Amino acid sequence: MDDQTQAPLKARTILAQALGAGDPVTKALVPPIHMSATYLRDADNGYSSGYVYGRTDNASVQQVEALLAALEGAAEAITFASGMAAATAVFLALEKPTHIVASRVMYWGFRSWLQKIGRYGHSVSFVETSDLQQVRDAVRPGETGLFWIETPSNPLWTITDIAAVSEIAHDANAILCVDSTIATPVFTRPIGYGADIVVHSATKYLNGHSDVVAGALAAARSCEFWQRIREVRAQNGSLLGPLDAWLLMRGMRTLDVRVREQARTAALLAARLADYPALKGVLYPGLASHPGHDVAARQMADGFGGMLSIRLKGGEAAAVATAARVQVWKRATSLGGVESLIEHRASIEGNGTLCPADLLRLSVGLEDPDDLFFDLVRALEAAR
Ligand code: PLP
Repeated sequence: MDDQTQAPLKARTILAQALGAGDPVTKALVPPIHMSATYLRDADNGYSSGYVYGRTDNASVQQVEALLAALEGAAEAITFASGMAAATAVFLALEKPTHIVASRVMYWGFRSWLQKIGRYGHSVSFVETSDLQQVRDAVRPGETGLFWIETPSNPLWTITDIAAVSEIAHDANAILCVDSTIATPVFTRPIGYGADIVVHSATKYLNGHSDVVAGALAAARSCEFWQRIREVRAQNGSLLGPLDAWLLMRGMRTLDVRVREQARTAALLAARLADYPALKGVLYPGLASHPGHDVAARQMADGFGGMLSIRLKGGEAAAVATAARVQVWKRATSLGGVESLIEHRASIEGNGTLCPADLLRLSVGLEDPDDLFFDLVRALEAAR
């Protein structure tokens, strides 16, 4: 048998013990929440603790950031008051007019913001980043400075090859940012595939209990651009609050077991629904029929995530009626929590949505897979 006594600790162990966070003063196993908005200055006028003011940094926030950095294999991670605050901070840190290449399919709220990036002097090309030729064709030499991909992308779960796009980005001297909210560091660690910055809506799987709104960025290396992002966070006041940081870290302790179970149930449901008569399609990267399956199998080790979408033969009316009839699934926006959610995305995204009207997005929680399956099937049948 191999000697594994010197092997690095697995993510599950690191998470369960939150990197050993506790309280060195009382020896409490559970760390305290550092609520102070300000800190005592030393008699010599210095700040020997390193903390000055609550808008710029906080010890509880730093604890969860260290945990995320360890999970992502990042040099540093920083957290924000929301996923949107994290994502927008990257663009607000750009110093000169920049051309951005971005995934056509992505979280619609951020896509809407990015569509208006011209107000900051930048420009954007939205392309199907699962098609590498489209990515190459979008590059404007000397102008393209940032690539933004989301994989799997919400809500169609298209897959972008991170390693391939990272080569294209780096050949263009550009930065690659990957929104990895859906994959989580349990299934994909984008830095290992060449990403420069990893983005999370920590509201979703990282926290996992639908009770915190938070965002995070993790950087492959600490560079000048990364320092400007930190500066934007401090100046805009978008640091995550200490109570939310503490809750996020508590949620993250079970991340590994939660998402593996959610992915197992999602795969089971996708397989059982694949040939269901009322459906014209099931979108899930774990299905061999999914166009991104091979790339996903390569870059998503151990699981394809807990998100899937179904498309109904009965169109929008049947989709809305099905969502109205489920009882175990909860009709709500967001994703990644322990409770399963169902949503008619086109309704919430409104005008300009890329989401088909016949689509229902399913965020698989931790309920019994049979309860979820039969509840959905009952609703599908009643809506036919
Ligand atoms: N990225 C993805 C993939 C998302 O699904 C969302 C929200 O749904 C966000 C970013 C934005 O995160 P937040 O709602 O925490 O601001």
